[in-house]
Amino acid sequence: MSIAENITKFKDEIPEEVTLVAISKTKPVDDILEAYNAGQRIFGENKIQEMTEKWEKLPKDIKWHMVGHVQRNKVKYMAEYVDLIHAVDSLKLLREIEKQAKKYDRTISCLLQIKIAEEDTKYGIDVDEAKSILQSNAYRKMTHVKVVGLMGMATFTEKEEKVRKEFSFLKTTFEDLKSEYNSFSILSMGMSGDYKIAIDCGSTMVRIGSSIFGERNYN
Ligand SMILES: *Cc1c(COP(=O)(O)O)cnc(C)c1O
Repeated sequence: MSIAENITKFKDEIPEEVTLVAISKTKPVDDILEAYNAGQRIFGENKIQEMTEKWEKLPKDIKWHMVGHVQRNKVKYMAEYVDLIHAVDSLKLLREIEKQAKKYDRTISCLLQIKIAEEDTKYGIDVDEAKSILQSNAYRKMTHVKVVGLMGMATFTEKEEKVRKEFSFLKTTFEDLKSEYNSFSILSMGMSGDYKIAIDCGSTMVRIGSSIFGERNYN
């Protein structure tokens, strides 16, 4: 199937209340344009420099999501345009986003990445750390960043029950925080391999890469 057909397929398949983020990392701008012409407007990247190069070249009504780990010294390159930062994992990073967003008189929406997987390779913080960030005076005083929800990545495994357990935990945590923080509206979980389980468990935003654009080539 073509990229355009894949976009159409996902738009048909995913419930209306779930947002599709097309993860275009490593893919050329022509591939992104094909998805764009099929109606897709939200794209996700995991490297700030690559995302910025694509933002410069592509239509300006695209919403760019940063889904990868963010280095503080690179926030300045995306502060002008980024729509949502999915993987915030410290108050220090929020402070930098606040500082850079202010320069453009913007408020940048962010998600806190919660570590739900077993693997050490996956980033994220635990629920207590997330709560302490949200409760901190420093965060409360910020006017140019808004934490609007949570993001998580499940363990990469064939064991569906395990993935389901991890996503369900994240959903419970999300609902818990949502009852306290009315800015909370986004629960970003689910990728090509596990989005069906994620939606089943209450995801409101899925991040799909290879099932739309094909396998990635990292050379
Ligand atoms: C690459 C990536 C995805 C998409 O992965 P696929 O398995 O290709 O769908 C989703 N989320 C994050 C954080 C990623 O880095």
